[in-house]
Amino acid sequence: MRKWECTICGYIHEGDEPPKECPVCGAGPEYFKEIIEKEGETLTEQVVQPDGDEDGGKQEKAGGLAALVMKHHLHPIAVHTPNGVLPLAVVFLFIALVLGGSSFEKASFYSLVFVLLAMPAVIMTGYIAWQKRYKGARTKIFGIKIGATIVVCATLLAMVVWRIVDPEVATSAGRWTYFLISVVSVAAAGLAGHMGGKLVFGSRDG
Ligand SMILES: [Zn+2]
Repeated sequence: MRKWECTICGYIHEGDEPPKECPVCGAGPEYFKEIIEKEGETLTEQVVQPDGDEDGGKQEKAGGLAALVMKHHLHPIAVHTPNGVLPLAVVFLFIALVLGGSSFEKASFYSLVFVLLAMPAVIMTGYIAWQKRYKGARTKIFGIKIGATIVVCATLLAMVVWRIVDPEVATSAGRWTYFLISVVSVAAAGLAGHMGGKLVFGSRDG
């Protein structure tokens, strides 16, 4: 039985031909390369890169920032802090809405501002990782990640602007709408993170 590895997520497929679509990340057969096994040791066929992007040394010298992002895994690092703060902002807001504490509301607002300010780093490192590690593959999984990121940015921006325009939003009639936006934001951020986890770990449990 021949073996094929998805170059996008690392999923291993067994069969005479690569699958029509990777079950983990949705990449097409053109993203699969055959794994050639010889007496216990595994050799992966060299993928031919027309633009010479495969040259690691050259890449390191050429794209300083991109190389830095890849080498130090800056995207997951850039994502984890705001991803941890965002649910906290929602919890603080919920407490403020239920118990009516203005300090929880303030904590929530500052947390949202922090997450919003972190978004450029999240997007930039994510874009570089997508281009470099996954060759900018336009598969479903990246579509979902990009869509979810747009939702996160839009909802965060809406909340921060709303709160600036109306500092009393947490006690206004629209407070539950405001809260609902924060729930959508955290759900979208969770979805983007889940898809990232699928990309990195998806191939190891299936
Ligand atoms: Zn895949």
